[in-house]
Amino acid sequence: MIWCPRCDQGWVVRARVPNRSETFLVCEECDTVWVDREPHAGPPFLILEEYLAPFGLEGLWSNIELLEDTTGT
Ligand SMILES: [Zn+2]
Repeated sequence: MIWCPRCDQGWVVRARVPNRSETFLVCEECDTVWVDREPHAGPPFLILEEYLAPFGLEGLWSNIELLEDTTGT
């Protein structure tokens, strides 16, 4: 897994909104989301709450589905 480059306090995991094909990476500690790119420390930042808002969902981890990490180590 990837250690979060932004907060340096948590792991980045792959997840998706249930029943959606698009996946994203999210830090389990600071809730930063990266879509279609590797985690990095620079802006622009997207957080889980902002990512889920267009789906009509609150920024809660119970609203997303964690996937197996397929990116290797
Ligand atoms: Zn983080």
